[in-house]
Amino acid sequence: MTVLLTNLPPELIIRILEDLPSRDIGRLSRTCSQLRSICRTDIVWQKLCQQICDIAVEEWNTTYYNIFTKVLHRYGRCLGLWRRNMRPYGGLMQVKVCIRLKSSCLCMILYIQVDNGRLLATEYKPPYVSDIHGPLRPKKVFSIGINKFKNRTEILCLHGYGEAHPGSIEFETEESDVEFKCCQMSSHAHPKGSSVELSTMIKKETNNHTIPFTIDDQKRLECYMKNVPKYRLTRIEVQRPDPVYPIQPGLFLAHYRAHGIEMFLLKYDMNKKETEVIKITGDPNVPAGETSIYINLRKPMQLTKDQQLDVNSLLLLEEEDIPDSDDVQPRNQPFVIPPGFSTFLDDFTPSTCEYRYFARGRIAGDDYRDPNLISVHVVPFEAHGVFFVLWFKFWDMDGFYKITDINI
Ligand SMILES: [Zn+2]
Repeated sequence: MTVLLTNLPPELIIRILEDLPSRDIGRLSRTCSQLRSICRTDIVWQKLCQQICDIAVEEWNTTYYNIFTKVLHRYGRCLGLWRRNMRPYGGLMQVKVCIRLKSSCLCMILYIQVDNGRLLATEYKPPYVSDIHGPLRPKKVFSIGINKFKNRTEILCLHGYGEAHPGSIEFETEESDVEFKCCQMSSHAHPKGSSVELSTMIKKETNNHTIPFTIDDQKRLECYMKNVPKYRLTRIEVQRPDPVYPIQPGLFLAHYRAHGIEMFLLKYDMNKKETEVIKITGDPNVPAGETSIYINLRKPMQLTKDQQLDVNSLLLLEEEDIPDSDDVQPRNQPFVIPPGFSTFLDDFTPSTCEYRYFARGRIAGDDYRDPNLISVHVVPFEAHGVFFVLWFKFWDMDGFYKITDINI
């Protein structure tokens, strides 16, 4: 016996539709007016929306059908973390569903109304150079939502000094997974001219001149200004925590000498035996996107205090001098920073550690000329969300601190 789909009760058809991909629901809705009407039932689209992200329909002031067909179907893949492809400086971006924050402050309500019910892209700059534990500095870049009056997708550039204005998004260009472009650069002109704009930006970058402005800062600012109209983005995946890791994967901040504070992604290979610390923001020597440190977990070390103080001998140590080991058990040992090492560390000055690894750190000339790898040691203190990297060649030690103020 043949049963026509249209002979089934609507509730049953809806139940069937809930298990179909959006493409098939679209095809089905074009077959007859009865199915078209059933296919438009919002509960069907609610499920499709929620397969992509958590959506509270009341925040959007429209239907799940509209949210899915006009925003999430095409632009849902913008959600997540991204590295900005802007050589050499890079950047960190996050796109998430903007939700209403509860606040009684009137200005806050006005501010929220603009973003409410949209996908919002925010660029996060590292904290001010004087305080690595300070907050990341967010800047809204673009948003994707529905224009209520025209009932169609709306991509807005949030840069500039006037109103939000049109932007566009392309996927999988030659250089990036996603590319955002401003479509109305005239909205970016500072009302008082470009020299006032530059001095305002310098003021902002230097926390109202409490931080010295360096040539490096100037170059970075010029690069940011030049690249305002276009954001090329490559996806970043932050791996899930696993007890087997001596350092949990994630995003980190480190003070990279003259270059200021930079951002990094620490990730493991498939075998969980090799770790890369990749630059999310970079500098003219080692740009964003390059790997700054390779940590080989098969090369655990256990050194006495005297061995740690003998920098000249440590300088001669090569990877092949360290025996391979798959043992992941802690190797408790003293920890000392050799006298004369420069560091940017805070009050955390441990005298023992559980792990120490032989690793290789990237160095290069200006414009990533003659890149090379040199021997470094990595000492994790996972309970404190930090690992140290000792660069014996430069008599220098950096602390890499986990970024905790972004919800990943
Ligand atoms: Zn713009």
